[in-house]
Amino acid sequence: MLADIHCHLDEFSKPEDQIKNAEKMGVCLILTNSVDLKSMRKNMEISEKFRSVKCAFGIHPNEIIKMTNDEILSTITFIEKNISLCSAIGETGLDFKYANERQKAQQKSIFARHIEIAKNAKMPIIVHSRMAREDCLKILEKYEARKVVLHWFVSCENLLKKAISLGYYISIGPSVLFEKHVQEFAKLVPVESVLFETDAPVEYNGKKSEPAWIKDVATKVAEISGLSYGEICHIAKKNLEKLF
Ligand SMILES: [Zn+2]
Repeated sequence: MLADIHCHLDEFSKPEDQIKNAEKMGVCLILTNSVDLKSMRKNMEISEKFRSVKCAFGIHPNEIIKMTNDEILSTITFIEKNISLCSAIGETGLDFKYANERQKAQQKSIFARHIEIAKNAKMPIIVHSRMAREDCLKILEKYEARKVVLHWFVSCENLLKKAISLGYYISIGPSVLFEKHVQEFAKLVPVESVLFETDAPVEYNGKKSEPAWIKDVATKVAEISGLSYGEICHIAKKNLEKLF
């Protein structure tokens, strides 16, 4: 059983097309992640219509820096009130690329709120950590986060070891198809800690990705790990069962 643990179906004009393509490729579960209130509402609607789609609620760290305090608070309240309508928290985390010191501190405190919400609801938490890998791990450990999925996480070996020792999952995406350093990194990740994602509709080599690509990603990871396609699908299924 294959899943796309991190994509954004709300950003497609006709997501039913991408859902059908994915189902044809054996992708049985698509977790569509949200970045703000508008995308939560859209993702909720899509997940209500399609059995293979679950939605995640969260505020993306890059959205936090554009929002007022009142907007952030009302969005958090929306998540808490509608928690029964989602299956995971995400995407949340830290992104220090565009943030100043005040915004970094704000991202950290909102990330901590997301961790508390996920823990209380016993839901997986999908974590974005661009230019903030170490800080993310520190906060996740401090707040004793459970069922952690580190999205687009390509780090040094020490941080990877730390993440694995804390029981976190590493979700590998289409960059493993094209980038040598991601392939090298994927070799270091134990298959028991691997999940797959596309972050669709993010473009790779000028081509818009979609959840159907998960089959290629899984095939590549199987090849890297010296496993058959059947074996990687079996392991992916077991990893998913522990998460949901
Ligand atoms: Zn994303």
